Amino acid sequence: MSRAIVFNGDETWEERDIPVPDPQPGGAVLRVEATGLCHSDIDHFRGHVHTSWGGAFPSIAGHEIVGRVEKIDSATAEAWGVAEGDRVAVRELLVTSEGYRIYGHDFSVDEGSGLYGGFAEHLELLPGSQVYRLREDLPADQLTVFEPLSCAVTWVAPVRKDDVVVIEGPGHMGMATIVAARAAGASTIIVTGTARDRFRLDWALRVGADHTVDVDSEDPLERVRELTDGRLADVVIDAAAGNPVTVNLAMDLVRKGGHVVIAGMKDRPLEGFHSDWIPTRRITLHPGAGLDTEAAVDLINAGKVPTGELLGDTFPLEHFEDAFALLTRRTPGRDSIRIALRLT
Ligand SMILES: [Zn+2]
Repeated sequence: MSRAIVFNGDETWEERDIPVPDPQPGGAVLRVEATGLCHSDIDHFRGHVHTSWGGAFPSIAGHEIVGRVEKIDSATAEAWGVAEGDRVAVRELLVTSEGYRIYGHDFSVDEGSGLYGGFAEHLELLPGSQVYRLREDLPADQLTVFEPLSCAVTWVAPVRKDDVVVIEGPGHMGMATIVAARAAGASTIIVTGTARDRFRLDWALRVGADHTVDVDSEDPLERVRELTDGRLADVVIDAAAGNPVTVNLAMDLVRKGGHVVIAGMKDRPLEGFHSDWIPTRRITLHPGAGLDTEAAVDLINAGKVPTGELLGDTFPLEHFEDAFALLTRRTPGRDSIRIALRLT
């Protein structure tokens, strides 16, 4: 049996024991070690899944999954380049004949084994899965950062050596983007946030940011101008979720001819955007939308990621309620840059 957290899709959840299946030919079974939590898990809890087909409920969420291969047949082991006992990162996109599906987001617990999300002790890896071997010398909860980093390494595509990079939003995506921007050659990294983000802004310096700006108490344009001798940012990456005003701020903070990457999901349409900014200041807009698990895992295995600083807080499965409260910023007097569940 595998203990699992099941979301009902109506802001309720329950713990269930689910039988562990034998792997299908071409698939495997993973013993989950740790799974990171993410803003999209909050949406999932509320019944919204960010896929065009809207997800399925009840279901097991969790897509930032690190575990050990528990059962795999020899042909699949050879094809995937892993053996039983190996520790791997799971790419959440599962390629199928009809397109793709996402572990932890759009499988119902009533389909097949039901074990298709990371908030459970086991995960059934279906044929078409992609897994990448992870280093053994670090705790699994630290390694779950591979997933936000898999996105962040693609968001920094416009970053060139010695660029000034501004990252808006010091959440777990912003933190991963600091690391990715540095690996891409950024010389100066400035992170912006609000007064409520004080703890996270301070933490951003530990993760590798050079400067932080609290936009509620300082004029961000003035401050970035001052920090860059008037040059402004070569690249602004908007990793902030929620309020769309960060998009307009990105257009202010980028230099003429610079690049803006729009990544964080907003909760409403944006007002006050002037498209003239794009031709008159020759700004290039990029989508923050990719996923490169292999590149993220390579950075971690090469020791280029401060996984300890990026860990945040971890909880055992039985304290899921506390983990979720901290994730949704409902724990009085406490904040966290990232949260993971430990499943072993
Ligand atoms: Zn995520």
